[in-house]
Amino acid sequence: METAVDLANTLRPIKGEDALETVEQLQGFLDDHPPAGPGEPSSSATDRRTGRWRRLTRTDLTEVRALRETVRGVLERASTDAVGAAMLINEGLRRSRATPALRHDHGRWWTEVTSDTDRCAAHLAATTLSALASVIAALGPTRLGVCAGPSCRATFVDLSRNGSKQYCTRTCAHRASVAAYRSRRSNS
Ligand SMILES: [Zn+2]
Repeated sequence: METAVDLANTLRPIKGEDALETVEQLQGFLDDHPPAGPGEPSSSATDRRTGRWRRLTRTDLTEVRALRETVRGVLERASTDAVGAAMLINEGLRRSRATPALRHDHGRWWTEVTSDTDRCAAHLAATTLSALASVIAALGPTRLGVCAGPSCRATFVDLSRNGSKQYCTRTCAHRASVAAYRSRRSNS
């Protein structure tokens, strides 16, 4: 779920910044977001799976950038057009050939959504889109959103109890309240 939001937010549409322009940046992103394993973040299972993508290519980058469009589209659309967002999720999952699997590793049972290819974009699609699907199923489509900060537009997933999140971070919320206070003062 964090991976989905972080992937979408490698693009900052207002600032025009893109943190996913090179194969090296993609490698860095994957290193920072290892596949979920049976609890231990640096388990051998994780190492084994990230090792699969040591030799990333421009094709991987192109595919992951296309996936980012889909993930961002889901996050932007879900609260206003849940049916459209669901279509994006289902199409993306179908293309990645995502398959849920029950595994037994490190003495524990755990579930994983896998794809039947070794492509890094297929695996990322399976994990990010199924995570967003789970949030929609469990909490509803309005939990996915875009920051109300006029100069931000970062995406977020709201897991708070009351589900009233409007800004991606406290920094953005604070900035907005300061701006509102200033405009009230200048109007009076
Ligand atoms: Zn923001």
